[in-house]
Amino acid sequence: MTTMKTTDNSGDVRLSGISKTYGSFTAVHPLDLTVPQGSFFALLGASGCGKTTTLRMIAGLEEPSSGTVRLGDQDVTALPPYKRPVNTVFQSYALFPHLDVFENVAFGLRRRGIKSVKKQVEDMLELVQLGEQARKKPHQLSGGQQQRVAVARALINHPQVLLLDEPLGALDLKLRRQMQLELKRIQTEVGITFVHVTHDQEEAMTMADTVAVMNAGRVEQLGAPTDLYENPQTTFVANFLGTSNLIEAEVGTRSGDDIVLEAGGGKLVLPAARCSAPTTAGGRLLVGVRPEKISLTHADDAGEIPEGRNRVTGRIADASFIGVSTQYVIDSPVCPELDVYVQNIERDSRLVPGAEVVLHWNPAHTFGLDAAQDIDAGLEEEAA
Ligand code: ATP
Repeated sequence: MTTMKTTDNSGDVRLSGISKTYGSFTAVHPLDLTVPQGSFFALLGASGCGKTTTLRMIAGLEEPSSGTVRLGDQDVTALPPYKRPVNTVFQSYALFPHLDVFENVAFGLRRRGIKSVKKQVEDMLELVQLGEQARKKPHQLSGGQQQRVAVARALINHPQVLLLDEPLGALDLKLRRQMQLELKRIQTEVGITFVHVTHDQEEAMTMADTVAVMNAGRVEQLGAPTDLYENPQTTFVANFLGTSNLIEAEVGTRSGDDIVLEAGGGKLVLPAARCSAPTTAGGRLLVGVRPEKISLTHADDAGEIPEGRNRVTGRIADASFIGVSTQYVIDSPVCPELDVYVQNIERDSRLVPGAEVVLHWNPAHTFGLDAAQDIDAGLEEEAA
């Protein structure tokens, strides 16, 4: 099978100051973004955050209010969609119902007047593992198979960039998970730049090598999935990607590379390098820690907790056994609800609702966020 891996930059997507306003409403604030050739890039955000509008501006289906779109070295801002080296796969697939799988995939080639399509179509069907289904009509296929036809039909045009607009949205959960891995495999094989729009954080993290988290028309943070998860820079990202415990704290002293904070009468240590908030002594910030990073020890065994860990005391308010882990909600003086996920390896039968506990974690897993951020964002929203 021939692959389409290239080493040039023709599949770079460069957005410069691109924005979209509808009357007085700004759907996308001026945005600068570079998606390197060959990467799997995801625009992730809640409904209405502007991700589809951004994708449509790359496709040429929406005219930007400002800024430019470049593909490789070419400025395509003024080009209509069909003249851009881009193809889009939509959630609805938009397959031709009267044509079989082979002819659906061959469509783009035939339209360009190419006569001998057999080899290319067969290669493409092999890529998406539909060789056996070539003579079926779309209605005779499962949702996942239809989705793969839509991908094959787009890829056969050798676009420099493939845009995917919630392409897995119509599939049930199990099939979605399967197709995520399948799409990732296809992208690795063909080496084309994929720009994927989704509201599903797990989907974005599974497939993409770079994720841009969008909120209210702006990219809040951009990075590799692990980086976004481990080092969120805003409260929105901390809560949109998984779950975060956020504790209000006051900045105390500096100790080497760490900041010592005060929260609920106790002290917490935060590596200065993991703090995106101002750290003036006496200032307030939010201390974050992921639920799975926390260990739970019954208060009777508190003496066994090693030195140097961040500690918070509390009482178990709720415990849910969910198989691989038990999810606890802890009522604590520093925060009324802290989430803790404990893997079910050796379960402590004393850890039941009402039990007094100590939560403790490695300070290296702590991150610091600007406490004023949400208030500022709220005021901005109100003013708009
Ligand atoms: P979803 O996941 O629901 O598709 P999204 O993040 O893709 O959401 P967009 O479709 O990009 O969001 O829309 C961003 C904002 O722009 C929304 O508030 C939407 O209502 C608004 N919007 C989109 N198209 C238009 C339009 N043609 N006229 C006015 N407002 C629009």
